[in-house]
Amino acid sequence: MKVVQVVEYHKDLKLSDSPEPKITSPLDVIVRIGAAGVCRTDLHILEGQWAEKSNVKLPYTIGHENAGWIHAVGDAVKNLSVGDKVILHPLVTCGLCRACRDGDDVHCEASEFPGINVDGGYAEYLKTTARSVVKLDEALEPADVAALADAGLTAYHAVAKAAKTLRPGNVCVMIGAGGLGHIGIQVLKAISGATLVVIDQNPAALELAKKLGADHVVQSGSDDFVTQVLDLTKGKGAEAVIDFVAEGGSTATGIKMLRQAGNYYVVGYGENINIPTIDIISSEINFIGNLVGSYNDLAELMVLAAQGKVVLHTTKYKLDDFQKAIDDLTAGKVRGRAILVP
Ligand SMILES: [Zn+2]
Ligand SMILES: [Zn+2]
Repeated sequence: MKVVQVVEYHKDLKLSDSPEPKITSPLDVIVRIGAAGVCRTDLHILEGQWAEKSNVKLPYTIGHENAGWIHAVGDAVKNLSVGDKVILHPLVTCGLCRACRDGDDVHCEASEFPGINVDGGYAEYLKTTARSVVKLDEALEPADVAALADAGLTAYHAVAKAAKTLRPGNVCVMIGAGGLGHIGIQVLKAISGATLVVIDQNPAALELAKKLGADHVVQSGSDDFVTQVLDLTKGKGAEAVIDFVAEGGSTATGIKMLRQAGNYYVVGYGENINIPTIDIISSEINFIGNLVGSYNDLAELMVLAAQGKVVLHTTKYKLDDFQKAIDDLTAGKVRGRAILVP
C-alpha cells in the first residue's frame, strides 16, 4: 500500500510502498483510511521536536487524525463490521490500567499513538484496536470529520470541562479563534447557556467567530481591550477563560479578565504563567491543564457534528499531493484544516 513516511528529520516526507498492516491480536482493527488530517504537529515531527519524546524508529508513517471504513477486525471484535464508517480516537489504549478504567484514555499507562510513535494514517490502511473506534452517524463522512480527531477533540475536551460549571448568565472568554478556537466556539454555543466573548488579534477570525455564534468579539492588541472585556462582565471578570493561545503574553492579559474563584483553562502552550501566589490564594482562581480528550469526548463531539452543530472547514489534497499540503500549511495558506484523501 501507499504510505507517506518520515525518512529523516529536517528532510521532506517520502511516498513509499509498504506491506498492509495485519491483524495480530483479537481486538485489532484495520481501518481503510478515508481521510487523514494534516496538523502542525506533523511539521514539528519533521523538525525533530518529537524525536526524543516518541523514540520512534525511522522510517515510519505519520498522520494522527484519522477516519475511514472498517476493513478487517480481530476474532474478539463483535461491535464492528467491515464497511462501518468510523473516526479513530488518536490513542491506542490498554483498557486495563487505572486511567483507562476512569475513562481517562489520554493518560493510559500503556498507550501507543499512531502517527506519533507507531505507523499512522498518511496511508491506505491503519491498524488500531476496537477500543479506539467511534462509529460515525450516517450523516457524516470520514473526510468531514477526520481532522476533528485531534484539534477538535482537544477543543471539545476543554470546553466541555468548562461547560460543566458554567451557568446561563455566566461569562466565558475564549482567547484565540483559529483552528481550535473556531471549534471551541461552536461547542460552547451548543452545550452551554453561558455568554461567550471571543478575543483574537485578527479581524477575519473575529468575523468568523461572530458567524459561529460568539455573543461578543473583542480585538486584542489595543490599549483598552482588557477593559472592554471587563465592561462586558460588569467589571467583575469572567467565570471561565479558555486560552487556546498561551503565547505572546496572552496569559498575563487573560488572568486579568478572570473573576474571583474563576477557572483558567490552558489549552495552547508556549509561555510561562507568572502570577504571585498570594494572588492565587486570595482570589481562589484555578489553573486547569487540557490535553487531547477521552474516547467519550470524541463520541460526544461526533454527536454534535452529526447534528450539524459543529462544522469543520477543510481543504482536501490527494495523498500523493502530501507535499503541497505540508507546504501550504507551513505557508499559512490552508483554509480551515488540510486533509489527505487516499
Ligand atoms: Zn493534530
Ligand atoms: Zn490503559
